[in-house]
Amino acid sequence: MPEAPKILSDSADCIDDIVVENNNKVLKFIEDVTADADEVQRRVLSEILSRSANVEYLQRYGLNGCTDRETFKKVIPVVTYEDLKPDIERIANGDTSPILCSQPISEFLTSSGTSAGERKLMPTIEEELGRRSLLYSLLMPVMSQFLPGLDKGKGMYFLFVKSEAKTPGGLVARPVLTSYYKSSHFKNSPNDPYTNYTSPKETILCLDSYQSMYSQLLCGLFQNEDVVRVGAVFASGFIRAIQFLEKHWSLLCKDIRTGTIDSKITDPSVREAVMKILKPNPKLADFVEAECSKGPWKGIITRLWPETKYIDVIVTGTMSQYIPALDYYSNALPLVCTMYASSECYFGINLNPLCNPSEVSYTLIPNMAYFEFLPVTRKDELTGSISEPTALNDKEKQQLVDLVDVKLGQDYELVVTTYAGLYRYHVGDILRVSGFKNKAPQFNFICRKNVVLSIDSDKTDEVELQNAVKNAANQLLQYEASLVEYTGYADTSAIPGRYVLFWELSVKDSTLIAPAVFEDCCFTVEESLNSVYRQGRVCDKSIGPLEIRVVENGTFDMLMDFALSQGSSINQYKTPRCVKYAPIIELLNSRVISSYFSPKCPRWTAGHKQWCTQN
Ligand code: AMP
Repeated sequence: MPEAPKILSDSADCIDDIVVENNNKVLKFIEDVTADADEVQRRVLSEILSRSANVEYLQRYGLNGCTDRETFKKVIPVVTYEDLKPDIERIANGDTSPILCSQPISEFLTSSGTSAGERKLMPTIEEELGRRSLLYSLLMPVMSQFLPGLDKGKGMYFLFVKSEAKTPGGLVARPVLTSYYKSSHFKNSPNDPYTNYTSPKETILCLDSYQSMYSQLLCGLFQNEDVVRVGAVFASGFIRAIQFLEKHWSLLCKDIRTGTIDSKITDPSVREAVMKILKPNPKLADFVEAECSKGPWKGIITRLWPETKYIDVIVTGTMSQYIPALDYYSNALPLVCTMYASSECYFGINLNPLCNPSEVSYTLIPNMAYFEFLPVTRKDELTGSISEPTALNDKEKQQLVDLVDVKLGQDYELVVTTYAGLYRYHVGDILRVSGFKNKAPQFNFICRKNVVLSIDSDKTDEVELQNAVKNAANQLLQYEASLVEYTGYADTSAIPGRYVLFWELSVKDSTLIAPAVFEDCCFTVEESLNSVYRQGRVCDKSIGPLEIRVVENGTFDMLMDFALSQGSSINQYKTPRCVKYAPIIELLNSRVISSYFSPKCPRWTAGHKQWCTQN
């Protein structure tokens, strides 16, 4: 199997030559694994299965040490998280026998996808960090084919760690990026021209989100002329940084002017790391102050960081809602989506990074995992949601196709078998084949299955929303009022964005219901939503207070009439639980009688609810 190219070799003596040599090695690696995609996939599966021959899960289904695709597909079921939950709970509770994987589970990665309101727990093993590093190492050589000179400047990336918890059995549970940033792969990465960032590692590793953001912005502003690219993981995170700058630029300018760091930054390692960079620079402070106080912030990125060539953020999937804001702040700099990854596994990269955001396609790297694809067709155009697949029957199982066998233009649900103990696991993402790199397919990210509302990394599905709304609407019964219909939308016109619910009520006497009752309803919805939503509200402040807009009677009939006029069938019509289409949102807004906001943040603690009581 082709080896990941090493970041830099020691042999060449000129740094430019080393960079070129390394880039060429990486590009050759991509050529090789994509040209040989099917063989690489065969070897990956065989390697995973031969290592896992003693694993309880595979033995349970009678794989009997077989490592070939045919037997694997015949005997091992295609599963969702719910199917694996009992096994995962055993591991979380401290069972160290080889249940899913022969290698020790090093930690759990907590996904932004949830199960019963809590983050899903993805088992991982130490060596997966190497696979993640491999995918990262491919990104800049690809980018450099399109934009030379990136090795000569710095990247201003806003990266953050989140809190971690311990399972009852003592394993750490934390998000995949927190795990990566805290690993030696990131902390001790060799200094190479492509990992030359403005943020010292100590500022990224600071758990306090205010101190981390402040110090990263301070360092980014201080080195503004060196910055050639800016970014964050998701678009929402980058927008949050701009909003933070809008609030705190005068304090930041004071620090740049005096070469000191504000007393609110108390973390000693952050202070020390920042003070190694910072010197008094009144001229720069004047410049930043002048730009920030000039009025509209159009083009603020290119004004403050004039050498910036692109913004590196994911704007595919639900993140596309932030494209207009990014265009505004950057005077339409290229928005570059470099990779597609998850807690389960890192999947692929964008080989044409300067393409338009609507055309982004990811090439799955065949040695990351064994990939299969379930063709999907059912799609509700109005909501954009895909129905939950029920247990696959034998015919459907046959339909799962291998990586090299997918068809151009067809939509598929991604199913993975990983080195860390997931076998034929539904990731929950819907992808469309947009082309091929050699034998490896390239995919547009279409959507996450069933997600109706999302602002940041939260993913609220229809069932969760329904339960949350039901809990809240029950409070109206004592006022002789009931909920007739509702829908929601993710309003990102202000930062932070928020969930907006349109409610149509049947009320005997509306004067009997005080505004506080509806505010309580907003709060109850928030309390009932999943832990990723509540963390976004409480800890990251990336989601604003939920709003309920009460609409006039008859509004949802008008919504149905509108859908029918657009071609929906009257027999199949059901109220969409989320709306995205601007004319529908306009219609709903034009019928609003009153609106209410959640008065406080819902409760949130790190780790699963049940662990908090056990720990
Ligand atoms: P998590 O498990 O919390 O790391 O979230 C992984 C999920 O984030 C994926 O399964 C996708 O739904 C979404 N995601 C990751 N990368 C991208 C991308 N480049 N474009 C769109 N969605 C993405």
